[in-house]
Amino acid sequence: MSNYTAPLKEINFVLNEVADIGRVYNQARFAESNAELIASILEEGAKFASGVLGPLNTVGDLIGSKIVDKHVRETSGFAEAYQKFIEGGWTALPCDPEYGGMGLPESIGIAAMEMWSAANLSFALCPMLGQGAIEALQSHASDELRDTYLAKMVSGEWTGTMNLTESQAGSDLASIRTRAVPDGDHFLLSGTKIFITWGDHQMTENIIHLVLARVEGAPEGVRGISLFVVPKFLVEESGELGAHNDVYALSVEHKIGIHGSPTCVMSYGENSAGAVGFLVGEENMGLSYMFTMMNHARLNVGVEGVALSDRAYQQAVSYASDRVQGKPPVANQDAGITKNAPIIYHPDVKRMLMLMRSLTEGSRALCYLTAVNFDLGHGGSDEGAETALARAELLTPIAKAWSTEVSQEVTSLGVQVHGGMGYIEETGAAQLMRDARITTIYEGTTGIQANDFIGRKVLRDGATELAGLLVDVRSTLDSAKEHEALLTVASALESSIVELEQITDWLIMRGKKDPVLTSTAAFNYLMGAGTCITGWLLVKSAVISMKKVNEDPDFYTSKITTCRFFTAHVLPRSASYFAAVRSSGEADLMLPASAFLG
Ligand SMILES: Cc1cc2nc3c(=O)[nH]c(=O)nc-3n(C[C@H](O)[C@H](O)[C@H](O)COP(=O)(O)OP(=O)(O)OC[C@H]3O[C@@H](n4cnc5c(N)ncnc54)[C@H](O)[C@@H]3O)c2cc1C
Repeated sequence: MSNYTAPLKEINFVLNEVADIGRVYNQARFAESNAELIASILEEGAKFASGVLGPLNTVGDLIGSKIVDKHVRETSGFAEAYQKFIEGGWTALPCDPEYGGMGLPESIGIAAMEMWSAANLSFALCPMLGQGAIEALQSHASDELRDTYLAKMVSGEWTGTMNLTESQAGSDLASIRTRAVPDGDHFLLSGTKIFITWGDHQMTENIIHLVLARVEGAPEGVRGISLFVVPKFLVEESGELGAHNDVYALSVEHKIGIHGSPTCVMSYGENSAGAVGFLVGEENMGLSYMFTMMNHARLNVGVEGVALSDRAYQQAVSYASDRVQGKPPVANQDAGITKNAPIIYHPDVKRMLMLMRSLTEGSRALCYLTAVNFDLGHGGSDEGAETALARAELLTPIAKAWSTEVSQEVTSLGVQVHGGMGYIEETGAAQLMRDARITTIYEGTTGIQANDFIGRKVLRDGATELAGLLVDVRSTLDSAKEHEALLTVASALESSIVELEQITDWLIMRGKKDPVLTSTAAFNYLMGAGTCITGWLLVKSAVISMKKVNEDPDFYTSKITTCRFFTAHVLPRSASYFAAVRSSGEADLMLPASAFLG
């Protein structure tokens, strides 16, 4: 696989201009952040991505991690890379300075995570989950727990994991069975968790597991789930590490992709009365606490989609510029090509590259905008913060699901651009497609995100929050209409937005009392809305680019062309999604379950 080069100019443009991160710097707690500082941090993060993480991506895929005597051995080279990662202070980027963090906006962490995930998703998953665990402890744990664990997690000396899933409890966490029994100042946990990312490794001396379990006698369902901290090694009062807790990895899964990331079956309390765990916050509030971590992780998984799409795009451009096949018809902008030429000159290859590029840039804008709204939302208690948080929560399921769904298309197109060589592992295009496959599944499948979006984020408030977002879309449309060159894209976006409003009104009328209709419609509604919102962000990019085009004609003209391509080739998909939503009430389009079973 060709090495990764972070698209820094594009990343800075989206952060600064499209997501308007400058609004975050106006908050007192981020007063020391500014565009120059952030650009220099991202430049260093980019060097780390291509210099340290990128070269380990293929070996992680080929060799992966393995388990020896209940201890997971990560891919050789990962531990050294992790050491450099923490020496660079990268785990501390968005963390609270009280525990040694740098206190930078989360949006910077998101942009950095894009680069690290693009370079080596398997590696990046470890600090990504650690970050979520830090956030959950910071927000909900007692001072004692925070004092014991946070500083070491922020410095990266200890990693963190997220233990939700059990064999009978995946999307449905109400079915969790892991038990917690009170025992003095702590609890004893017993049960088995599956699919735990970086559940064990040798890169750090301790691993802090955040575990969902049910205290004996707790109510059934989600109201009876509590959150516990379960360290791999117990921590003495002095801060020294004590005995090995009764938590072990039983096996490492063989999977389609992310082979360098150990996905572990974890046993708690298999060899004793239970693994020692400490309650976070109040009993039975675990799931709501875990949502702090899940929101973080969901947005980050959306960013993984962006990252892999971008890597696939870069790889495809590089291959298409080298591979010579046949004589392309001469397109206006490529006049002069009259003999056999690299496939990048073939209109259909260009179409694929433009599709990859526009979907990638659109999903990046969507994720970064969500991150900036989280930063604004977590910044204070004023009305502006509340509005921003509501906006971030509205966008999170779309950022997660839309960006990862399109990453399936983009990474698959990456294989297609390579022709037969794409199907051969040695080019690396296939690894990106395999790695991307998990992103629509973990941290809540696309189906779960779609239910969240349609039910909790749109229908519950009668689409008030969505209407607020569409006010901003209309303001961009007004600006676009001031430019002759953008009249066509403005008109296309306006039609799609009107259709989004109409289908939303229809759903409010029909869907509230018909859960089968809303569940059937959910995926298409999310994808349609995601296409419209991404279209808006690309039109916004084009409006900004029109004003700046003389500063850097190549860059800004490309942005305008990419937006025009998206509105012509991708935005029309929203109409198909909405047509499918409208037919979701037609029960006779679905076979009864028994008919599938023969
Ligand atoms: C590589 C990998 C790493 C992972 N890492 C972690 C981790 O670190 N920690 C952790 O706790 N878990 C982790 N997971 C688990 C992951 O989050 C779950 O696999 C995921 O939530 C889906 O659960 P499930 O596999 O049980 O699928 P199921 O819940 O059985 O879903 C199967 C299908 O049914 C659909 N479905 C289920 N319920 C509904 C519904 N209510 N409405 C609509 N559709 C529905 C789903 O969308 C899906 O298409 C990981 C999984 C993998 C494969």
